[in-house]
Amino acid sequence: MSLLPQRTDLDVVGAGLTVRLPGGDTVPFAHLDYAASAPCVRAAAEAVEGLLPWYGSVHRGAGIRSRRSTQEYERARDVIAGFVGARPGDTVVFTRNTTDALNLLARCLPADVTTIVFDGEHHANLLPWPAPLRLATPSSPDAAVETLERALRSLRGPALLAVTGASNVTGEIWPVRRLADLAHRYGARVVVDAAQLAPHSPVDLAELGADYLALSGHKLYAPFGAGVLAGRADWLDAAAPYLRGGGASASVGAAGDVTWSTGPARHEGGTPNLLGAVSLAAVCAALTRADRAALHDREQDLLARLRGGLTGVPGAAEVSLFGPAQPRVGIVSLALPGNDAAAVADRLADDHGIGVRAGQFCAHPLTRRLTGAAGVATCDASTAALLRVSFGLGTTGADIDRFVGALGALTSVGAGRQLVGARTGR
Ligand code: PMP
Repeated sequence: MSLLPQRTDLDVVGAGLTVRLPGGDTVPFAHLDYAASAPCVRAAAEAVEGLLPWYGSVHRGAGIRSRRSTQEYERARDVIAGFVGARPGDTVVFTRNTTDALNLLARCLPADVTTIVFDGEHHANLLPWPAPLRLATPSSPDAAVETLERALRSLRGPALLAVTGASNVTGEIWPVRRLADLAHRYGARVVVDAAQLAPHSPVDLAELGADYLALSGHKLYAPFGAGVLAGRADWLDAAAPYLRGGGASASVGAAGDVTWSTGPARHEGGTPNLLGAVSLAAVCAALTRADRAALHDREQDLLARLRGGLTGVPGAAEVSLFGPAQPRVGIVSLALPGNDAAAVADRLADDHGIGVRAGQFCAHPLTRRLTGAAGVATCDASTAALLRVSFGLGTTGADIDRFVGALGALTSVGAGRQLVGARTGR
């Protein structure tokens, strides 16, 4: 019997990465920035490696490579349809990422649909919608439901609620099911931005009560450039193709008259990202096979360890919208009053071999509100000011402990004050 640890599909590629510190020590790199881009897992890397010898054009050839590539691409679509619980009548469109998926849906909205968004959304779910009805960021799940109900009552005509599954800033889980049930009572549809929820929790269209769902492969351990929009086909089939060109067109007449494809092909103009699709499907399949409850418990243990450790770091205050008891995924953002978060992030990287992110995380209205509430002085109104720790598969208790220790040391001596300017403030 081998005493070597068993390799699994969900092992992180590059788990043993080390960095040399200025003092000469070499330490394991503690990657705590999964919410930006998660590391690749073996299932994704092996799917790519296994397919490369067969790589050929998708939907565009008769040779064996092309046939195999087409088959794998469509199989990937089916696997992902299963992963998101697609229902009869739903479609799965491959996109570049969540931003692309939400922009696609925004382009497919019937003209009379009003989109409703809360201000606390990531920019990817705030900016694509044409003239959305913007609702103030709520301070509790109940307030979210009440605010939405007032908005729905005031509207005439069809609506779409665009809401996040889990905040990329606070990690808090939004009351999606309650909001979706309410929206449906008023005849509105719902799209869930699952970019941050899907890496941490099963995402099922029916269970969420969603009509559409968007996610990114690079946050789901498959960093090969694919994302997904899944959901009801009718608006997508009725809308103009997202990208006009080959694949999206079924036939083009001599006079330039076009019959557009329906189904996913309509919005997948050009040669698709086969490796992105296949690697994403491989991760979805591996997660489906895995014990998700055990993964969840492990992540929640790490979260408790992090939050417990942070209580001993007086210079760091966790920010939250709904309060500390709200269930959350493995994401915590900290206000560091008196310290420049970007400078602290730099010192964590340079002096400790720890990777986190500082800034506003493409959610400016939300971070402005959270930093205001936390009393953090920002260097300038458009930059600064939170430090975000995020983790998932492959993260260890040692990674968390090192972060807590290093942060405590840096904030106690005010190390972050010495450097001015938030260089990573997007
Ligand atoms: N929504 C949320 C909640 C996110 O965290 C992100 C990425 N930070 C996005 C959407 C956009 O994802 P992408 O950059 O992959 O398009």
